[in-house]
Amino acid sequence: MTEHYDLIAIGAGSGGLSVANRAASYGAKCAIVESDDVMGGTCVNRGCVPKKVMWYGASLAHALHDAQGYGFDVERKGFDWSKLVEKREKYIQGINDWYESYLSDPKVDTYQGHAKLQDGHTVVINDTVITADRIVVATGGYPMVPDVPGAELGITSDGFFELAEQPGRVAVVGAGYIAVELAGMMRGLGSDVSMVLRKGHFLRSFDELMHTTLTSAMTDDGVNLITNFSIKGLRKTATGIVIEGENGDAVGEFDSVIWAIGRAPATSDIGLEAAGVTVGKGGYIPVDKFQQTNVESVFAIGDITGEAQLTPVAIAAGRRLADRLYNNQVDRHVDYRLIPTVVFSHPPIGTVGLTEEEARAEYGDAVKIYKTEFTPMYNVFTEHKVPTAMKLIVTGSEEKIVGCHLIGAGVDEMMQGFAVAIRMGATKKDFDDTIAIHPSSAEELVTMR
Ligand code: FAD
Ligand code: NDP
Repeated sequence: MTEHYDLIAIGAGSGGLSVANRAASYGAKCAIVESDDVMGGTCVNRGCVPKKVMWYGASLAHALHDAQGYGFDVERKGFDWSKLVEKREKYIQGINDWYESYLSDPKVDTYQGHAKLQDGHTVVINDTVITADRIVVATGGYPMVPDVPGAELGITSDGFFELAEQPGRVAVVGAGYIAVELAGMMRGLGSDVSMVLRKGHFLRSFDELMHTTLTSAMTDDGVNLITNFSIKGLRKTATGIVIEGENGDAVGEFDSVIWAIGRAPATSDIGLEAAGVTVGKGGYIPVDKFQQTNVESVFAIGDITGEAQLTPVAIAAGRRLADRLYNNQVDRHVDYRLIPTVVFSHPPIGTVGLTEEEARAEYGDAVKIYKTEFTPMYNVFTEHKVPTAMKLIVTGSEEKIVGCHLIGAGVDEMMQGFAVAIRMGATKKDFDDTIAIHPSSAEELVTMR
């Protein structure tokens, strides 16, 4: 007999797990299908979690160096990559195991295998057919590899997390979150790192103050930035990998080349055509504000919608969809404006709202900028100085804050609270009227003139 559900989630990543768990907690009969042999999706297995572990490792490497400035007789004698990787994988295994209870209480049935829609109510997994009133597609994405000769000599972020040994000479190709995060952590952990950019600088969609400050910090750290380099292909030699440029230049050799050039949505081969679900530009699934596709019974959440590709966004979309469908919260949905985000670079970037360029395009002369750049007190005794820079973008006579951009030690933890204030409509005066916390870097945000 075909098992029938209220809701089936396809993909057990941040989005799918959240919608199934929340819907089941309201009493809906739910199932989740995952093609991987572990639960958790990209964030847990090949993304945020292992990345943050490595980021902590690299931060400690910097701190060990800094400790000498504070009088500690410490020396960094070595770093055991395989030990850290082993512990990291054990930690992830613990999270994978925890999902069993997450899905058994409240009860969610799990199916392992590649799911394909047969129509708007039917999902096929190998020989098993299940049906539901509603289906939520949450299949996420995968890292892209360019179509150039020798591309297979490189690895992606997925391959990076499989590295059993630390590569000595690394090239990271790309200019987004993953590129700067991997480059920064590898450098911190002691690799010889080059970044290969096809344009003039990285993080081009971020506020200018963020990428200029990070460029100078990473260059100071010894990251070799190769800009305006158009890749023709990769070539293997007896001692490494060489990256060849369109204009006849070549860079290398490297032990490892990492492609970090963006991700593509996992929307092919999941039966969207059979179900009549429209696929939009780039393969993403267009949805309305309630995550509904053009088919009434089919919803889509997370990375495959092409909206801010962040774990908390996928989780919020899943939970709010369940709140609306099964808990009578009729207008519950995600507001995709003012989403805070952190790039775990060295130093990190935290940002919310419009960049200066976007604000000027939208508000013209009504825009005013408050900005500060300084070296934090922590660095007074350290040989290695890390810059901090902050920018507040305000508009109108009331000076409403429409953008907040921070780079420097600690901003990754600073951003969340400021994002709440800005979402609530904070003005510059609200910031000014808030008593500072001293001594801290964060106090600069409420004392800017
Ligand atoms: P996913 O988590 O990708 O889950 C999709 C799941 O669907 C996968 O498990 C997949 O196996 C499964 N699946 C696919 N097709 C099928 C099918 N046909 N049948 C069954 N199952 C299927 N975000 C942050 O907020 N902070 C970070 O620090 C951060 N760091 C990142 C670092 C890296 C290296 C990467 C790659 C991403 C990072 N992200 C980060 C982004 C974050 O991981 C994603 O936004 C998030 O995982 C999206 O969740 P999702 O549910 O949409 O998709
Ligand atoms: P991004 O989309 O952030 O950046 C990829 C960049 O690589 C492009 O913007 C482009 O920059 C450059 N690029 C594209 N094609 C090529 C090419 N053929 N050759 C060289 N460079 C190229 O993708 P990522 O893979 O870094 O990350 C995917 C998403 O995952 C992010 O957007 C983010 O949403 C999420 N993520 C979030 C993290 C966090 O929250 N901390 C961490 C990691 C990922 P340009 O045009 O300037 O060349």
